[in-house]
Amino acid sequence: MSEFRADMHCHTTCSDGSFTPEEVVKTARAARLQGLSITDHDTIDAYAEAIPHAHEHGVKLISGVEFSTFHAGSSVHVLAYAFDLENESINALCQSHKESRRKRLLTMGKKLADQGHVLDLDKILLEPGSFGRPHLAQAMVEKGIVSNIKQAFNEYLGDGKSCFVPSNTISTTDTIDIIHKANGFAIIAHPHLIKDQNVLLDILKMDFDGLEAYYARFSARQEEVWVKIGTQRKWIITGGSDFHGAMKPTIPLGSSWVEEDTFNLLHERYQQNSHA
Ligand code: AMP
Ligand code: ZN
Ligand code: FE
Ligand code: FE
Repeated sequence: MSEFRADMHCHTTCSDGSFTPEEVVKTARAARLQGLSITDHDTIDAYAEAIPHAHEHGVKLISGVEFSTFHAGSSVHVLAYAFDLENESINALCQSHKESRRKRLLTMGKKLADQGHVLDLDKILLEPGSFGRPHLAQAMVEKGIVSNIKQAFNEYLGDGKSCFVPSNTISTTDTIDIIHKANGFAIIAHPHLIKDQNVLLDILKMDFDGLEAYYARFSARQEEVWVKIGTQRKWIITGGSDFHGAMKPTIPLGSSWVEEDTFNLLHERYQQNSHA
């Protein structure tokens, strides 16, 4: 028996990953992962394609999504797991994110057009899933406005640059409430990346069910700090690679994972919710 591994954080072409849902499932199988959750930004569109492939390849799938939230002016990523994919509140939240992302993309497109850079935004807007600045950056590369994505961010789209538009979506506490209404688990994504100590202290007091201690390329020592903080609160400790394919080529799928007990806890809840 090989050691149990399930990667609980990855992205597909339905948000800003470069692998399709089918490719992510096949990559999970090839990496000998027994379990997986796809956590695209603000969308669960990947599951329609992923579910049949997960069945075919014997990879256990748990519903997931990475919500963009705001607290005290800072962006906070919240992972939701184990909700029913048909759940109305979760679907409505994804839909509301899609609408605000659409408006934001159009405003950024208008700013670019004012500088003489006209892009075919419909091509981006008609794709399934959610879109953001990386898609706009990619369109700029394809049009020859910039030579790479980095340059698009450095010169136009990065925070505070001339075509940047901030996204002010829904609060962290409201997002937690919606996840709980769907009987899902609300988990703090990559707490290691939250720079503002006041924001961190605030969110550690919120009604989360867990935190993502095992993440990407953090050292065991850095992860241990978060395991301790989560354990003190009797929270669930999750882990995932935040795989994005070619968008973050140094991080392979399965490079961080959860233990079997944790996976089973989430999987049981997912099955309960899907059959309710
Ligand atoms: P959005 O959700 O539309 O604000 O886009 C955020 C995404 O843009 C992040 O998840 C990154 O993948 C990407 N991103 C942000 N800043 C940069 C940067 N300076 N260079 C390349 N990609 C970036
Ligand atoms: Zn991403
Ligand atoms: Fe994130
Ligand atoms: Fe992520």
